[in-house]
Amino acid sequence: MATVSLQQDASVLSARLGRAAEAAARADLDALLITPGSDLRYLLGVGGESFERLSALVLPAAGGSAPPVLVLPKLEAPGYAAVPAEQLGVEVTTWVDGQDPHGLVADLLRRDRTPSRVAVADVMPALHALPLRSAVGGEQVLAGPVLRELRMRKDAAEIEQLRAAGAAIDRVHARMGEFLRAGRTEAEVGADIAAAIVEEGHAEAEFVIVGSAANGASPHHAVSDRVIERGDVVVVDIGGPLPSGYNSDCTRTYAVGEPAQPDVRETYAVLQAAQEAAVRAVRPGATAESIDAAAREPIAAAGFGREFIHRTGHGIGLDVHEEPYIVGGNEMPLEPGMAFSVEPGIYQQGRWGARIEDIVLVTEDGVDSVNERPHELVVLAE
Ligand code: ZN
Ligand code: ZN
Ligand code: ZN
Repeated sequence: MATVSLQQDASVLSARLGRAAEAAARADLDALLITPGSDLRYLLGVGGESFERLSALVLPAAGGSAPPVLVLPKLEAPGYAAVPAEQLGVEVTTWVDGQDPHGLVADLLRRDRTPSRVAVADVMPALHALPLRSAVGGEQVLAGPVLRELRMRKDAAEIEQLRAAGAAIDRVHARMGEFLRAGRTEAEVGADIAAAIVEEGHAEAEFVIVGSAANGASPHHAVSDRVIERGDVVVVDIGGPLPSGYNSDCTRTYAVGEPAQPDVRETYAVLQAAQEAAVRAVRPGATAESIDAAAREPIAAAGFGREFIHRTGHGIGLDVHEEPYIVGGNEMPLEPGMAFSVEPGIYQQGRWGARIEDIVLVTEDGVDSVNERPHELVVLAE
């Protein structure tokens, strides 16, 4: 459940609402329509949950006189009690079954003028996006490109949360020898890791990847009933949100005893050098794609270019995957306050895989990692 309130004071949220309204005006929008999810959590401190009954923040672009309105089904209103609506100048309007909430939103949007262009949350269910399109008229676009400009640049409180999340997931990796042993299934190991993720301070385990042997060559493998064997290489990629909503995401690659495959050590050394080179390349002004290239070039030079089958990284915050994406073609210059993963991998189909992932922060003059576990292949006792 994403209803735990973020420990943000109203002044932080108020500034975010103001900046979002300004950004909407700059984007020639009349309003933003934000349904439950991480955008709503960013703006109001409560993420809520989307149902067939519409909940939405109607946030007019700056320049008009109409205040923001949080439209809620009457029975969902208690879930939003933590929103400091009065301090934020947000009106709360509830509706009951039998009323038309999409028409209600359309009426709210027409308070200042007939809207011609409205942005809807990227995660708005089609169940609401299509009726709103009919009720509101005009053009609808995605709100993501407007809000990412705000969400990509983390403030000091957000950075503190990402550091705390990184430290919490580091503590789980530090305990891997307790869980990861020959003779256990990936699923058994994964269940213990999930419990440890919560024990170490997360609200929940959002994802647990335990990819042993050939399963490690599938980057988004979760867990299976495969029994881990002596000599296996195992990719462990884990994370989840703290109670504040800010996420961890960290991968280390382990060997259960000395690796059985003869090419592991040499290949892993290439990966480790590539990950370090990419992290070292991070600084304000460097482009996102230059970080991807810094990871990709040494891997390609060693002959593994075709075994590195995904982008180098993704932004992280209230979502595990958000902007900026560290990928070829993304010429976005990095700025202080941005946070993203650097996670190259080499995947030997049918045999084994390896990935190293840290979350890094762009600082005023360089880079800082929130994850501090060693990068070497970690050989665990069998
Ligand atoms: Zn991933
Ligand atoms: Zn990951
Ligand atoms: Zn990741």
